[in-house]
Amino acid sequence: MRRINDAVAQSGTTLDQWIPLTSVEQMAKTDYDVLIVGSGAGGGAALWRLCEQWGQSGKKIGMIEAGDLLLPTHSFNVPTLNEQRVIEYWERIADYAGDRWPDFQKAKIVRGLGGRTLIWYGLSPRFDPTAFRTWPITYKDLVPYYTIAEKIMNVTNLYTKGSALQEMLIERLLMGGFPETTDVPLATDLAGTKYGQVHSNVYFSSIDFLAYALNIRKFDLSVNTRAVQILTEQGKATGVKVMTADKQTYTLTAKTIIVSASTWETPRLLLNSNIPGEAIGKYLALHPMFIATGTVNRDLFPEVFGVALLFLPGSVERNYQLQIFNDYYYDYTEKPLLKKEPMEMHGYGIVEPRADNYVSLDPNQRDAYGVPLLNVHFSYSDKDQALHREMHDSIIEYASAAGLSLDSPPQLTPPGNDNHEAGTCRMGDNPATSVTNRFGQVHGIAGLYIADNSILNLTSPANPTLTTVALAIRTADHIVAQMK
Ligand SMILES: Cc1cc2nc3c(=O)[nH]c(=O)nc-3n(C[C@H](O)[C@H](O)[C@H](O)COP(=O)(O)OP(=O)(O)OC[C@H]3O[C@@H](n4cnc5c(N)ncnc54)[C@H](O)[C@@H]3O)c2cc1C
Repeated sequence: MRRINDAVAQSGTTLDQWIPLTSVEQMAKTDYDVLIVGSGAGGGAALWRLCEQWGQSGKKIGMIEAGDLLLPTHSFNVPTLNEQRVIEYWERIADYAGDRWPDFQKAKIVRGLGGRTLIWYGLSPRFDPTAFRTWPITYKDLVPYYTIAEKIMNVTNLYTKGSALQEMLIERLLMGGFPETTDVPLATDLAGTKYGQVHSNVYFSSIDFLAYALNIRKFDLSVNTRAVQILTEQGKATGVKVMTADKQTYTLTAKTIIVSASTWETPRLLLNSNIPGEAIGKYLALHPMFIATGTVNRDLFPEVFGVALLFLPGSVERNYQLQIFNDYYYDYTEKPLLKKEPMEMHGYGIVEPRADNYVSLDPNQRDAYGVPLLNVHFSYSDKDQALHREMHDSIIEYASAAGLSLDSPPQLTPPGNDNHEAGTCRMGDNPATSVTNRFGQVHGIAGLYIADNSILNLTSPANPTLTTVALAIRTADHIVAQMK
């Protein structure tokens, strides 16, 4: 207790919340070396890496987040949120597009510290090396950053280790014509607490990035602070105009700005700031998602059954991944012993990158902050639909090889259900067809970077977050090298 009191006396502050916050008034008085907009996967990763690289160098780093403090950890780590209550909670915190975006009805926006990493499932495969053929960087360029990202996010394929169900299903699939089937890499910390080191956050979220950063050095964080405009002068970023929840306006200044506001909000912010670039908002992509439910007969498995979470990754010949898992592979409650175990299958494909799939500012409607609403235009091409037919048939074959009885044919779900939308500020060498260069810097604007899903060329059916995090770490390293 004495040591705690001493710490308060030294810093001159008491902690009102579970994370130190800085008022926006205070932030408006600081000239930041780097200011990050958004605290989800991309923003959190960039923040952590900058803090790690710069250590106690005296560089000033700030982060603003439009949403409030929601949870101090991933929702799956909260023992009062069982499988039913966690979904009810998500329904409350996520803003569903619904009829507002008829082309993308199932899109969800989470405004809050940590962004959508508070509710993601943690599946973290890499993109296949061949997926980088149309990228400005190669797989080899990204390998060191994938490795760093996997380490910091605790990506492991041991989550299902020792599960009889997992092992028997994989064996059936290996022998049944799907030899690439394997355990899903999951961002989960499976280490037990010992020697005084507490491991209470099993499921990784961006709050972990913020915590690691905070334990290295100080940074300023303001929540309920929304970026409404990026400010530039003569082709250089100079700051961000922000608004608080009570609609007060402030100007924050920074030498470098990293926008990590998501596939929807990043292009919206750039378009509202008149940042030049023909490709801003274009090439919206997703993973067309199929769902099928079914059962496996429990009699064929030993008494101690376990959980299943396995997948067939995408590859150069296969533009989709297939997953099988049992309902639910995370929970706090006892499961009833059923004769038939309910199972779920997901299939994720890719779409052709097309400029016709895009987001734009609504010329007539604005939100409460005076920012034009976003419109979304999305459709599937003939080639996309041919892939859907292939996926449909392949899911049936995969289920059969695994010994699953499907309840009904696989269903293509509405856009947004995958939660993997990307591409609206994609990376590339050509400013006519891409928004950022190979380091995430917006073409033609010095000091303005993007680090979130919007930067991805979604050329792989692998879940996107690990790749976004790897790219954000690479962007942070590039900024550190530039500011030496
Ligand atoms: C239910 C669910 C399950 C998922 N499962 C997986 C999975 O298993 N594997 C996987 O790879 N991905 C998964 N995802 C997707 C994953 O959550 C996203 O890929 C990832 O969070 C995207 O990171 P981001 O930085 O682009 O955006 P986000 O995480 O959405 O963060 C954006 C942040 O920016 C803030 N913001 C927005 N606008 C502004 C503004 N103007 N000013 C200031 N702040 C702003 C937001 O409040 C938010 O905090 C899942 C998503 C959901 C919803």
